[in-house]
Amino acid sequence: MMDIIVIGGGPAGMTAAIYAARAGLSCTVLESGVAGGQLATTSTVENYPGFPNGVGGVELSTAMEQQAKNLGANIKYAEVTDVDLAGEVKTITLKNGETLHGKAVIIACGAAPRKLGISGEEELRGMGVSYCATCDGFFFKNLEVCVIGGGDTAAEDALFLARTSKKVHLIHRRGELRAAKSLQNRIFAAENIETHLGYVPLSIDGKFEVDSLKVQNVETGEEESIPCQGVFVAVGHNPNTALFTGKVGLDDAGYIVTGEDLATDVPGVFAAGDIRQKDLRQVITAAADGAVATISCERYLLD
Ligand code: NAP
Repeated sequence: MMDIIVIGGGPAGMTAAIYAARAGLSCTVLESGVAGGQLATTSTVENYPGFPNGVGGVELSTAMEQQAKNLGANIKYAEVTDVDLAGEVKTITLKNGETLHGKAVIIACGAAPRKLGISGEEELRGMGVSYCATCDGFFFKNLEVCVIGGGDTAAEDALFLARTSKKVHLIHRRGELRAAKSLQNRIFAAENIETHLGYVPLSIDGKFEVDSLKVQNVETGEEESIPCQGVFVAVGHNPNTALFTGKVGLDDAGYIVTGEDLATDVPGVFAAGDIRQKDLRQVITAAADGAVATISCERYLLD
C-alpha cells in the first residue's frame, strides 16, 4: 500500500514525486512512455527559471526524473489500463494485470496532440506526417516541410525545423499567430520560413510518402498545393482523460476539474498539470501543480 500513486511522469508527476519523497511519503510514479511527457518532445525551453540560455526538453525531463529517483521516489514504467478511485483504498490496474493500491492518487497524465482529421493525415502518419518536430525533424534535413498551427508549439516547431530543413511553410487559419511575440519576431525574421496566414489545410497528398499539402484561402476559397516532404501538425492538445471519464468530474472539453488545492470531486484523488482545467499550461505551471497536489495529499492523509 503506497501513500500516493502518481499516474504520469511529466513535470507535474515528477515534481509530485519529489515533494512526496521529501515529505517521507511512499510514492510510486507510473509512466507508460518516457519520463517528461510532452516536455521530452520540446526542443528548448526558454521560460523555465534558472536556465539563462534555455534548457533542452529531454535534458530537463531527465534531470527531474533523476532528482525524483535520488530522493527515493519509485518510478515504474508501465501502462495503466484501469482505475478504481471510489473507495478509501485506490486500485490501479496495469497492462500486465498487476494491481497497485494507494491511499491517494495524483492524476498527471497530461495531454496528447490533436489531429486535423483531414484526408492523408492518418494514411501518411510516419511517412511524412508527424506530431513531433524535435523527434522527426532530422528526417527532413535539406527538404521542404509544412507546419500547421499558430500557437507556441507550431512557432517553436517551425524555428526548430528551419535549422535543418531547406524551407519551412507555416500555415495558420487566422490572420495572426497566437504564439508569443518573441517567437513571432524570430519566425518573421527567419529567411527560410514562409508564413501562410488565413489558410486552412484540406488534405495531405502523396502515395507512401508526402508530396504536398493542399490548403485553402479562407477569404477567397482559392485552393493551392504546397510541395513538401513533411507535414508537422501542431494544433493543440486533448487531455488524456479516457481512463477517468465517469470517475472524476470533467469539464466540457474533457479536462479534470479541481479546486485550488487540486482536489477532484473524489476524496483522495487529485489532478496536476495539463490534464486539469486551467488557464496556463506550461512546464512551470505543471511543476507547481505537482507540488500543490502532493501537499494537498499530505493534508488528506493526515486527516
Ligand atoms: P494552442 O496554443 O492551443 O494553439 C493551437 C493552434 O492550432 C492555434 O493557433 C489554433 O488556431 C490552431 N488550430 C487548432 N485546431 C486547428 C485545426 N483544426 N486546424 C487548423 N488549426 C488549428 O496549442 P499549443 O501551441 O500546442 O500550445 C499549448 C499550450 O502550451 C499553450 O499554453 C502554450 O503557451 C504552451 N506551450 C508553451 C511553450 C513554451 O513556453 N516554450 C511551448 C509550446 C507550448 P487559433 O489560433 O485560430 O485558435
